[in-house]
Amino acid sequence: SARDKIESEKIASVLKLASGVAHELGNPINSISIHLQLALKTIAKMEQSPSLSRLKESVEICSKEVSRLDGIIKHFLKALRPARPDFAEINPLAPLAETLKFLQNELQDLNIKIEINTENSLPSILGDTNLLKQLYFNLIKNAMEAMDLGGIIKIGTSFDDNFVKISISDNGCGIDQDEITRIFEPYFTTKTDGHGLGMMIASEIVKSHGGSIGIDSRKDEGTTIMLSFPRKDKRIREIMAE
Ligand code: ADP
Ligand code: MG
Repeated sequence: SARDKIESEKIASVLKLASGVAHELGNPINSISIHLQLALKTIAKMEQSPSLSRLKESVEICSKEVSRLDGIIKHFLKALRPARPDFAEINPLAPLAETLKFLQNELQDLNIKIEINTENSLPSILGDTNLLKQLYFNLIKNAMEAMDLGGIIKIGTSFDDNFVKISISDNGCGIDQDEITRIFEPYFTTKTDGHGLGMMIASEIVKSHGGSIGIDSRKDEGTTIMLSFPRKDKRIREIMAE
């Protein structure tokens, strides 16, 4: 729905803001912390005097405050992470269908077609619909951003006794071979306005479902993201064994 779309975009922009804050503050905080430690070492080497011990006290207070700032930022980023997942028996394509529905106008404006090749009945998984919507949103957004002149996003499925697999392919700009391994790193982005958190979050969401995520990409040809989720019964056995 339109509300979901606004929610997802709100989450995306908050994440962007938060990562911006963390990025901008992280470096100076680090530098201040290092120099305060150096100052304390220098003070320790100097001759003792009342004014020196006052200086030492000030530096120590600054040092404590800096690590407090660091803690606040880390806590802030952690708070943005999704809460405890709420798993239910679902069709793994259902959240994707919802995501595509609320992106449909944008897809149309960008001249991007969606092609879905799937079996009639896909085995169910234990999934958190909201998390999976966030996962698909991140992946579809990347595909859209990779296709300046429109194109096709192909969705395929397959399954065996243990896993349900979903692939999402685009015929966009692709990724340099030497950059492929970096796309899951936080803050890795090749976009001027990117935040570099989408793929990291995607991989965390997949992992929280006991699944795996793979990528196959060729520069100037396109990218395929492969998702694999354990089928419900397998996942239940896994959870019970944990
Ligand atoms: P962002 O989208 O903010 O850059 P992501 O974590 O979502 O951050 O993606 C990281 C990088 O991975 C992107 O900047 C892009 O270089 C690359 N990437 C991810 N998905 C695709 C795709 N479908 N096509 C081309 N490049 C992609
Ligand atoms: Mg992205």
